[in-house]
Amino acid sequence: MVEKACKKCKRITTKRKCPTCGNQELSMHWVGVVIIIDPDKSEIAKEMNIEVPGRYALKVR
Ligand SMILES: [Zn+2]
Repeated sequence: MVEKACKKCKRITTKRKCPTCGNQELSMHWVGVVIIIDPDKSEIAKEMNIEVPGRYALKVR
């Protein structure tokens, strides 16, 4: 299955829409993977404004 990244919040998903924000604009062109387990304790999550645990792309085109 093809993994796509949400253009809005960068969540990586195989679904047709983003499970985090519900956005349907998903991109196949993304690089890098960040896994957020505990957004409250993660500096990266704060920097990327991530509030929901999951896998996120570093860059989405
Ligand atoms: Zn999203």
